[in-house]
This record gives sequence, C-alpha cells and structure tokens, in this order.
Amino acid sequence: MARVIAIANQKGGVGKTTTSVNLSAALALSGCVVLLVDLDPQGNATMGSGVDKRNLDLSIYDWLMENEPLETVAVEGSGGFKVMPGNTDLTAAEVELLNEDKRTERLSQKLSAAQNIFDYVIIDCPPSLSILTINALIASDGVLIPMQCEYYALEGLTALLETVERVREEANKDLMIEGLLRTMYDPRNSLTRDVSRQLMDYFGEAVFRTVIPRNVRLAEAPSHGLPATHYDKRSRGAVAYMALAAELRRRHMSILYKEKES
Ligand code: ATP
Ligand code: MG
Repeated sequence: MARVIAIANQKGGVGKTTTSVNLSAALALSGCVVLLVDLDPQGNATMGSGVDKRNLDLSIYDWLMENEPLETVAVEGSGGFKVMPGNTDLTAAEVELLNEDKRTERLSQKLSAAQNIFDYVIIDCPPSLSILTINALIASDGVLIPMQCEYYALEGLTALLETVERVREEANKDLMIEGLLRTMYDPRNSLTRDVSRQLMDYFGEAVFRTVIPRNVRLAEAPSHGLPATHYDKRSRGAVAYMALAAELRRRHMSILYKEKES
C-alpha cells in the first residue's frame, strides 16, 4: 500500500514545492517507487521535476476531471519518480469541482488506482486552504507541514491544524500529522532558534529532527529542471532531504510496527 503524504501550508513560499520535489527524489534514491502529484496551478513542482508545464499533452486536469487514467497522464520526471503534472488548467478543475457532489473526495477516489503501484505518493499543495488542499487532506495518510521558523509562522499553523481536525472529524479520521519540517533554517538567527524551541516544546515528537538549511543549491536546482539531489548531491540541501527521507521512512516503519502489535 502506498503511503500518501500531503505537503501543505497555506502560507506562501515556505518550501512546500522544494520539499515535495526533493523528498520525492530522495525517497526514489532510497529505492522507493514514488509519484509526485502537482496539485498547485502554479505548476512549480512539475517544472522543478524537469517537466515543461507549458507543453503537456495531458495534465492532472484530464486525470481528475476527464477520466484519463493515471498511466497515460503521469510522466517520468528528472528525479527518478513519476510526476502527475499540473498547470493553470487546475484552476478550471477547482471551479468545476465546486459544482459537484463528492467534490472533496475526487483525488482520494482517483488515487485508489495508485495504491498498489507506488510506495509513496507526495502531493504538493497550493498556498491556500482551498478545495484542492481539502482534496489532498482527504486523500492522504499524513500531512507534512513545512515551515520557516519566523514569528508569524505559528499563527498560520492554527488555521491549518483546525482544518486538519475538521477533515478528521468529517471525512478522513485516520489523517495524521506526518510531521512539522523546519525549512530555510539559519541557526545564526536568534529568532529562528527561539521559534524552533517553541515548536519543539509545543509539538514535541511531531517536529522532524531533520532541519532543512537555507542553501542556495536548493534555490538554483529548479531552473535546471532538477531536484537538488541530482543537481548537486553533495550540497547541504540535498543531504538534508536525504536525511528527511530516511527519518520519514523510519517513522513510517514504526507506525506499521505499532499497527501490527495492536
Ligand atoms: P508557494 O506557496 O508559492 O507554492 P512554496 O511553499 O512551495 O511556495 P518554494 O517554492 O518551495 O515554497 O520556496 C519558495 C522559494 O524559496 C523558492 O524560490 C525556493 O527556491 C526557495 N527555497 C525553498 N527552500 C529553500 C532553502 N532551504 N534554501 C534556500 N532557498 C529555498
Ligand atoms: Mg509551491
């Protein structure tokens, strides 16, 4: 069974797409079969995986709304994983979904066909708590929340956690917080250290031990259509995402183990 993980935070520019692309690549390098679903009309995860969003035969719109099968729409990315590519057509899907029954369960239904093919499905969410993000939360086993350790980061978190709670109550009772991920981390900044400490105090084990440093290679890699793990595998950013993949897999193993025990 695939583990489906939504990468979500309605705050913009916190590292969702960078995490989606590099975590997908790092999991693939560790031997997992991975699908990255680009659920953001900006199409940044598509481009960052080496797939030109302006030049697609079929896109996630055709999969979600037009019954095209996953195998015909998903393409091979540059990082050793499959990409369900997205672009501005997704905005039309968003509007069309609003008029449908089961509008929040579409992605979940579609992904059932992927359960036996992939080890991990990573969903890059848009920077909003829109119907697309709700679709992702309902389709997922866990939500991974990237955040920058800055003052306003914690405020935004409340709305996201409330949404997660509502999804749990109404549609997906097993949705877990996969973890909070500190991104663009700069240990020389005292505010970063303070906010980081608050996060650890409040959320404890839910905070990934791995931190993603601020690293220019992570910012450069997308313009080459590559994950940083392939653009410069020795960079601090690439190494951090490899560590995150290992930490995530360890956590996943321990969840499976506990389920077996009980
Ligand atoms: P949006 O909300 O618009 O979808 P996002 O949350 O997906 O944004 P990214 O696109 O991943 O965020 O990152 C925002 C910007 O910061 C990008 O230019 C990216 O290259 C850069 N960036 C992300 N993580 C890092 C990092 N660890 N070090 C340096 N630059 C980074
Ligand atoms: Mg993004």
